[in-house]
Amino acid sequence: MVQKDFSTYFNTGDCLFEEGDIGDFAYIIESGAIDIFHRRGTNKLVLSKLSEGDILGEMAIIDKLPRSATAQATEPTRVIAIPFDYVKEKIADSDPVIRLFLRLTITRYRDLHTRFTRVFDGIEDFNKTPMQSKTASATVEIENIVSQYQKIQQHLNTAVKSAPNNYEERLGSEQTLISTKLLLTQDKSIKSAMQDDEFILHYQPIIDLETSQIIGCEALIRWVDQSGSIIYPSEFIPRAEMSGLIVDLGYWIAKEACNFQKRLATMVSQPIFMSINLSGKQFESANLVSSLADIMDQAGVTHSMIKYEITESLLMDNPELTGNTLHRLKETGVQLAIDDFGTGYSSFSYLHQLPFDTMKIDRSFVSEMVSNLKSNEIVKTLVHLSHDLGMNVIAEGIETKFEAHMLKQHRADYGQGHYFSRSLSGENFIQLVKKQITQMTGS
Ligand code: C2E
Ligand code: CA
Ligand code: CA
Repeated sequence: MVQKDFSTYFNTGDCLFEEGDIGDFAYIIESGAIDIFHRRGTNKLVLSKLSEGDILGEMAIIDKLPRSATAQATEPTRVIAIPFDYVKEKIADSDPVIRLFLRLTITRYRDLHTRFTRVFDGIEDFNKTPMQSKTASATVEIENIVSQYQKIQQHLNTAVKSAPNNYEERLGSEQTLISTKLLLTQDKSIKSAMQDDEFILHYQPIIDLETSQIIGCEALIRWVDQSGSIIYPSEFIPRAEMSGLIVDLGYWIAKEACNFQKRLATMVSQPIFMSINLSGKQFESANLVSSLADIMDQAGVTHSMIKYEITESLLMDNPELTGNTLHRLKETGVQLAIDDFGTGYSSFSYLHQLPFDTMKIDRSFVSEMVSNLKSNEIVKTLVHLSHDLGMNVIAEGIETKFEAHMLKQHRADYGQGHYFSRSLSGENFIQLVKKQITQMTGS
């Protein structure tokens, strides 16, 4: 999992880290360019020039030793940060042999790096400098690990021989022990996660840019696995779509989100709509519209307070089928939004034949708006066109006050993003709404 929420922006000249810092993050460059260098007085010894798709800072989050060089953005740069805690957890879960190999590789790489720099600075003669890594102790460690595996294997073989007829039963615990080990890196199936109630919904506030009040929220699914770690939708939604499980999961999401909207409606007086994401596979089910209507009725929600989000790419995959279903869905009285707008290639002339109430401008335009004149113009144009077509606009992924300000200037109606709030658990969302009401009424 690489969490997109950790996407960060650096201006030209900003340092991501300095030589000697302790590393908390590794980075993947989404856009822009970064130099890795050593400082020599006022000069820089550039070790590498990195650009889109490159990874940096990975060593220090594996061994937690100080950064071996400085990293500086040489143009406006966006990176995805991979936190140390996440990597630490994954390494701890991996096979001990792999852990050892990783440690050795990193140690050797650091050795090599230090030797090269010392040779470059004229401090050492490369051929006379010995390697520092402790290969001897690694050998001992490998032997220990191998002997442990051999013991388990022997144990298993003895048990099989002594119980040829019911060895599966007798071996239950050993087998589980070994297969658990083997399965450690494999995901638990989505189906059993559904049965075990491991899915939860978080809610991200949607803000009226004019009044700064919360007017809605988007339901975003999370998978809390048995170790308590959160798995984000980009990790499992594509698989759920491939296996068709998204259909059942989608109904669970709709039910949960509608129940929460009903709860909100009974607790707070101000209307707060609920956005629910629908995925392509759901549109292949003939019962989608009637099932969603049943779910909304069972929850007792006002249909117009539910907004279904459909991505632009979904629409382009099968325009006729999707268009038909959208018209029928709209007849149930709900609102419809076109999501991630700008990432696909739909034409406005086609869009206006579809019953959308809202356009959600994709985060990529919002994040580039400040540094890229073209993105800024695109956002302005999208807002105008949407209004002309009778749609309101939600700008996604607002991360700074300045972005919020510019979007307000461009007359975007609503905003969503980390600047206002990340997605929250149901309880925290309710608290936030109550706090807002208290501030408004002063009571
Ligand atoms: P999306 O529908 O575009 O949802 C918005 C995503 O942007 C969310 O990621 C949200 O956490 C993230 N986000 C919001 N504000 C910011 C910001 O200021 N900066 C950055 N960098 N990110 C921001 P999340 O929750 O990881 O969801 C990713 C995608 O997974 C969603 O994109 C949606 O396509 C899908 N998804 C999430 N929940 C569901 C669901 O219940 N059903 C279906 N079918 N898909 C879902
Ligand atoms: Ca969405
Ligand atoms: Ca979106």
